[in-house]
Amino acid sequence: MENQLNKTLNRRYILRFLEELLQIPSPSGYCMNIMNRLEEEAAKLGYTMERTPKGNGMITIAGSGDSADAIAYTAHVDTLGAMVRSVKPNGMLRITPIGGYNMETIEGEYCLIHTRDGRQYEGTVLSTKTSVHVYSDAREWKRDEANMEIRIDENTSSKAETESLGIAVGDIVSWDPRVRITPQGWVKSRHLDDKASVAALFGLLEWMKRADKKPERTLKLIFSTYEEVGHGNSYMPADITELIAVDMGAIGDDLSTTERDVSICAKDSSGPYDYEMTSRLIELAKQHQLPYAVDIYPHYGSDASAALRGGSNIRAALIGPGVHASHAMERTHADAIVNTAALLLAYLGLSVS
Ligand SMILES: [Zn+2]
Repeated sequence: MENQLNKTLNRRYILRFLEELLQIPSPSGYCMNIMNRLEEEAAKLGYTMERTPKGNGMITIAGSGDSADAIAYTAHVDTLGAMVRSVKPNGMLRITPIGGYNMETIEGEYCLIHTRDGRQYEGTVLSTKTSVHVYSDAREWKRDEANMEIRIDENTSSKAETESLGIAVGDIVSWDPRVRITPQGWVKSRHLDDKASVAALFGLLEWMKRADKKPERTLKLIFSTYEEVGHGNSYMPADITELIAVDMGAIGDDLSTTERDVSICAKDSSGPYDYEMTSRLIELAKQHQLPYAVDIYPHYGSDASAALRGGSNIRAALIGPGVHASHAMERTHADAIVNTAALLLAYLGLSVS
């Protein structure tokens, strides 16, 4: 069969929406603005997004058949970031990380500090001994949490002056995503994990609207807000029996996924994914000639793991676009995002003709 699936999806729509999502700050626990944008986009396409008490979003597409069982696809909007841990005597900020990353990956990055009264300040993340002109041990100085600080772009050199800006312990800090989409289709940005997958799910939604198609089984698209801290999708409505977590595919070492593939994860740190679902995803990728790879992610847990640990009575699988240098300066290619959406479309059994 010729690969028609990835041609039928609207690549331009997916990339444009992705670019917009990447620009909206959304560290775990600070996803209100991005969820409003998703709700607005869903409404534009003619769908309603409900919110759970925790703040996850859910779009239900009623099935054309009479099965009571629903299938869910989930992706997370939350990202890595930080929180102000203390205001230092020199007016700089000490931070505590949100999510798991190496401090080296944020050194020199521009950031925004979001105060609880809605103000926003710019700053830069630096080590406490950055300047080689001053510190003889600047190169060896360990980049760990205690040795990093934020320089705020305001007139402050004391704790009192910083506090008078309205900055306080518990304020959210977001990184400059540095989004670039090249004419060749490379997407370079922080937080492609997992906004690339969120864009893929909206690509699917846009296709269903345009093609006027409904899946046979009821489909729920769930957008979760605390995945990076481990409990994004821990709650699931009881009618869901199958879940596909759509999250970035890891690249490197002995893994075979590339930035153009849809990655199918057979096992991660939480154990093997559902055998039948994974086998069917591999079969569908072959059948539709979608570039894919099956991999084992050695240091990884997904929102499917969170759902299972939360007690959900479901079978679960994990797929997603290959993302290079994850939780650092990430890169993927438009092909990987479109191939992911195409495999999700194939799994619903919808015909594209
Ligand atoms: Zn992720």
